[in-house]
Amino acid sequence: MKDFLALTLAGRLPHSFHGNTPHFRWHWLDCGILQLTPHQPVERSLVLSAGIHGNETAPVEMVDNLLHRLFAGELALHCRLLVIFGNPAALQVNRRYLHSDLNRMFGGRWQTFPPGSDTARAVVLEQALAQFWRDAEEGERWHLDLHTAIRGSHHVRFGVLPARPTPWTPQFLDWLGSAGLEALVFHQAPAGTFTHYSCERFNALSCTLELGKALPFGQNDLTLFAQTQQALAAWIAGDHLEAANTAPVRYRVSQQITRRSEAFELYMSDDTLNFTPFIQGTLLAEDGETCYQVEHEREFVLFPNPTVALGLRAGLMLVRES
Ligand code: ZN
Repeated sequence: MKDFLALTLAGRLPHSFHGNTPHFRWHWLDCGILQLTPHQPVERSLVLSAGIHGNETAPVEMVDNLLHRLFAGELALHCRLLVIFGNPAALQVNRRYLHSDLNRMFGGRWQTFPPGSDTARAVVLEQALAQFWRDAEEGERWHLDLHTAIRGSHHVRFGVLPARPTPWTPQFLDWLGSAGLEALVFHQAPAGTFTHYSCERFNALSCTLELGKALPFGQNDLTLFAQTQQALAAWIAGDHLEAANTAPVRYRVSQQITRRSEAFELYMSDDTLNFTPFIQGTLLAEDGETCYQVEHEREFVLFPNPTVALGLRAGLMLVRES
């Protein structure tokens, strides 16, 4: 299974669907979905996904690199591992998605989108996760979903964590810091993201990692991702990881800006960086009768995008936690 990425991009079936290395059994489950199970019993399980957005190729190359090291026996496998290349059809054409944003569809929300290859893929991924977690032991369950952002950012690497009724474990948050994340954003409401689905349905500790700017295959400077790559390798191998020198800055979502009508206008320039601050009272967007203003002393924008489909998120506003 050395050519898993190539097979995924070509949309081809493998010659065999499962096999063994000296250390683990592998199982090709579907296009872009590969499960690795160590011969020794393990209690930890990890879903490692990339390419949910098809133009975010650097994380796909990172995961491909980790897979090569696992198959070569250079990296030990001390967890059950489900590797997912999220949206192969979009990866093939270097587009974020073909019809609708896959990372808004999870938790059954795909039913509210026009049917197409993206909605079909959401169903396949939901089923793959359900199967993987159903077979998991009682031990740690992690899901790390790797992305790169559309725009520049005041924090080069950051994590977005889904709303969760129970507290996050310190080990998980510490690991995210060790993986090079400069900031952590805590959602306060449910969403259709892949990581929200894992957290809500399967009680996984999950995080969407934003690791830099999106570039086409082959143009990524993977040295920018080295710290995250090392942290991933350490977790997979069950190795201890040095704690980060500085803890990530924490933000929570204070409000969501939603584009509800054709009249929607976002009052930010196209080159506004993620985590740009706005002061209290600033008019952020208007949508017919609805005005979006900064309510707290300072709020920071994340993922501003005025061109999303109607009913979807055109930006998030954050407040910094002390
Ligand atoms: Zn993305």
